[in-house]
Amino acid sequence: MRWTKSLIPTLRQAPAEAVVPSHQLMLRAGVIQQVASGAYNYLPLGWRSLHKAMEIIRTEMNSAGAAEVFMPALQPIEWWEATGRRARLGENMFVVTDRHGREQAPGPTHEEVITMLFGGAVTSYKQLPVNLYQIQTKFRDEYRPRFGVLRSREFQMKDAYSFHLTVDGPDGLDVEYQNMYDCYCRIFDRCGLKYVIVEAETGDMGGNASHQFTVLTPTGEDTIFTNDSRSYSANIEKCSTGARSYNLDGEPTGELDKVHTPDCSSIEDVSKFMKVKPKNMLKSMVYKAGDELIVAVVRGDHDVNEEKLKDATGQTVVGLADDAEAKAAGFPVGFIGPHVEVSCRTFIDFDAAQDQFWAAGGNEVDHHVKHFNWKRDLIQHVDDTCYVVADIRNAIDGDPAPEDRGGGTLHASKGIEVGQVFKLGRKYTQALGVTVLDENQQNVVPIMGCYGIGVNRILASAIEQEGGHDDRGIIWPMALAPFHVVITPIKYSGDVAKVCDDIYATLTAADIDVLLDDRDERPGVKFNDADLIGIPLRIVIGDKGLANQEVELKARTADKPEMVKADAICDHVINTVRNELS
Ligand code: ATP
Ligand code: MG
Repeated sequence: MRWTKSLIPTLRQAPAEAVVPSHQLMLRAGVIQQVASGAYNYLPLGWRSLHKAMEIIRTEMNSAGAAEVFMPALQPIEWWEATGRRARLGENMFVVTDRHGREQAPGPTHEEVITMLFGGAVTSYKQLPVNLYQIQTKFRDEYRPRFGVLRSREFQMKDAYSFHLTVDGPDGLDVEYQNMYDCYCRIFDRCGLKYVIVEAETGDMGGNASHQFTVLTPTGEDTIFTNDSRSYSANIEKCSTGARSYNLDGEPTGELDKVHTPDCSSIEDVSKFMKVKPKNMLKSMVYKAGDELIVAVVRGDHDVNEEKLKDATGQTVVGLADDAEAKAAGFPVGFIGPHVEVSCRTFIDFDAAQDQFWAAGGNEVDHHVKHFNWKRDLIQHVDDTCYVVADIRNAIDGDPAPEDRGGGTLHASKGIEVGQVFKLGRKYTQALGVTVLDENQQNVVPIMGCYGIGVNRILASAIEQEGGHDDRGIIWPMALAPFHVVITPIKYSGDVAKVCDDIYATLTAADIDVLLDDRDERPGVKFNDADLIGIPLRIVIGDKGLANQEVELKARTADKPEMVKADAICDHVINTVRNELS
């Protein structure tokens, strides 16, 4: 490709709204252009890179035995109602109404459609297992689209779905889950990503086991934990801690002292006003667990983990109670202390169940208490079915790791989720009434797995990760670079132009992706742009070098160029590119 025939609108400065490096650099390098909040044009460079990621995914999925299909983006809303996910996804789903007044959803994901596709095409166990995938545009009305293509409202996803009769056995879900897990490793390795694989919650997908593939970077939105020996890695939503001791029997540190705390509703406000550190405060909140209202108590500097609360309460649906409902039940919302006079079960995190000085809500509007004591103020007044001490908070850096997973200490880091694999079970096949005939001619409900990759996020996280950019611009891994090499003539004319054209032709014939900077620009401008757009190799050709039959070769990551004989440059480049891609 000749630069003058492409469209590479490089910018000196990124627009102010771009705050993370990948977003800034993708805009500055003319990779993407914003159309609207969470929607982007992929310009020629971006589209080439996106295609490269897709082709890696496609080749690896095909060789792992999955078959590609293509489903419509517009999906019947009834199927989402049948699985209960219309309500569950709520405002995250776009819903459009057609001219006949029928609603449908531009798909945020395709479990419902694939299950119906499968139901319409597969009747016998003999056709199982099967794994079908597509690469398609997904639509999600994200609450906060941000960080460029990392969290957009329209994005490309590779989504795969497998169907099985059993979990175990050679044709079972477990085998295919591992097959996809291994396939994902090959995909992300080939893309040049540095990732970790962490245990994850299943969220909106449902199911009972899941792993996320996460690219480590300080700008990532996900918090993950890994223990010292790296035998345990988990997302914050899932991360368990090792045993933490507790004690509810300690003696009071003083008289229960009620303090008027006007206009203080947050932990920070109360902490400042009462001059008590958040770690000496109890945060008590009303949750709805199934049909029951419960109180969850964690330390002021900790956060409740709803998944853990689910496990502790034994309920499948747990969420913060609606304020009005909690108030109607007698809870002084915003000022609740564990000794609240409403009869309910109380779930106490280990770190909150300690013998120490506590400040807590005063169970009266605009009031808090000092010297709350578990034994005196709660335990003595209720029977022991009314309180449960459990791990109900998010893990934090320095927590003990679960002993049965290798123990040691948990270390927090930030990352970007690029892919996730799930064992779904029968959630979708059951809800949509899909069955196949087994060996005994009995109808059975198949078991599913699903496997997603965010294609756009692959590009952004390649830039975001360590070594993915510097102060001059993007540093693409060879596999994702829109071009492997850029030829930069000092001046594109005469002999220099002829040598450029020859090298261009030879490399292109050898399947090397070459960009020829044939612009009438100063060398400095061309060098800066080449660095900004992140092409891994640059060949500089000028009269001076050619006088010695030499050209200059510089890797984007190297400090200095090397001089290479003009008649050897093509072989040199071909070998370098092939080596890096293999
Ligand atoms: P997140 O937790 O970041 O919102 P998710 O867990 O909801 O993502 P999945 O449903 O697992 O996402 O979708 C599969 C993949 O699609 C994700 O691993 C991610 O790479 C990508 N993805 C999800 N949401 C977005 C988005 N808004 N913009 C770009 N890529 C996305
Ligand atoms: Mg996910």
